[in-house]
Parts: sequence; structure tokens; C-alpha cells
Amino acid sequence: MIYIFDLDYTLLDAIEFKRGLARILGLSWEDWQANYQKFFKDQNKNFNFYQMLNYLIRAEIVNQNQAVEIRHAVLKYLKTIDSFIFPAGLELLKKLSKDKHTLMLVSFGDMVWQKSKIENLKIKKFFAKVIITDSNKSTALMFLQNSTEEIVIINDNAKETFLLQESIPRAKVYVTDGPYAHNVGHQEPVYTLAQLVKEI
Ligand SMILES: [Mg+2]
Repeated sequence: MIYIFDLDYTLLDAIEFKRGLARILGLSWEDWQANYQKFFKDQNKNFNFYQMLNYLIRAEIVNQNQAVEIRHAVLKYLKTIDSFIFPAGLELLKKLSKDKHTLMLVSFGDMVWQKSKIENLKIKKFFAKVIITDSNKSTALMFLQNSTEEIVIINDNAKETFLLQESIPRAKVYVTDGPYAHNVGHQEPVYTLAQLVKEI
């Protein structure tokens, strides 16, 4: 069976991870959120830490000396990214790979930033394939439409998950618990990772 995992909010505690990024930039959580909204969400852009840093330099919130330290600090921080993987997520990956399933990690976002995160992830060893896309996951997963293997999709983002299921109708989907589990109306169950460890 092929298991397709999402990263942010599914396997990775993205909220805690972002709190650490805010601390590195010297921003309160509120200021982080305001800047995140202004520079990325409002512009319909995917987040990239280095771009955020450049915006903050231009806005004179961060000076050049601080920026040097911040660039060092974020590289160090990225090396600790596995500590933000949900423990039950790690358990699930271990279980599925022990059972000889094929695991794939498919992540949507800014190519440079997602790559910085994933190349530091030790859990990437569990995945036969890692796909990063900044367009859409359905296109990135087109190659699966010819596969005869059973496909399971595990993703916290309900909207993205149901769109994926439309392009691969035979896929079984599990929406995992998180801030995006109801970003589109649906009656499907929402699972915690601990539940999935038992269910799958
Ligand atoms: Mg996600």
C-alpha cells in the first residue's frame, strides 16, 4: 500500500515550530502573526523565513547585525526540526515502514523554505519519495493515477485532502486533527495520530 503524508500540521507541529521562528526573529507571537498576515497571507504568498527576514530588514524592524545572527540561529534551529514531529506521527511512520508499506511525503509551500525544512528532517529516511510543490498536489501526484496499488492519504487540511481524493478517487483519505481539519464543510471523521496508529 502507498501512504501519502502531508508535513505541516500533519506530522509536524507547525504552530510550535513557528513560535520558535518568531523567537529567533525577536518577535512576539502577535507581531509574528501580524507580519505573517501582511507579508504572506495578504499577498497570497507561501511562507519563506528568509523572505520574512528581508521584509523585516526593509521595514527596519531588524538591523543588518541582527540579521547575521538570525541567519545563523535559523540554520541551527532547522537542525532540531525532528523535535517538532508529533510523537504519534513518528510511531505511525515506524509502524507502516515496518509493515513494508511505501511511504511518500508530499508538501505544498515555498520551494526553498520547504526544502530547507525537509532536508534537515531525519524522518525523511522513512519515505521512498519526497515531493515538494508550490503549484498543487493533485498535479504532483498525477503519476499515481496509473498505479494499481492501494493509496491512503493522511493530511490535516480537509480542503486539500478532498481535492486530492477527487483526482485519485480510489484513494482512502484520513483527515487529521488540526486548525485546518474543517476548512471546508464535511461530515467525515477527523482522526488524531494516536487513533491512526491503532486504526491503520
Ligand atoms: Mg498540512
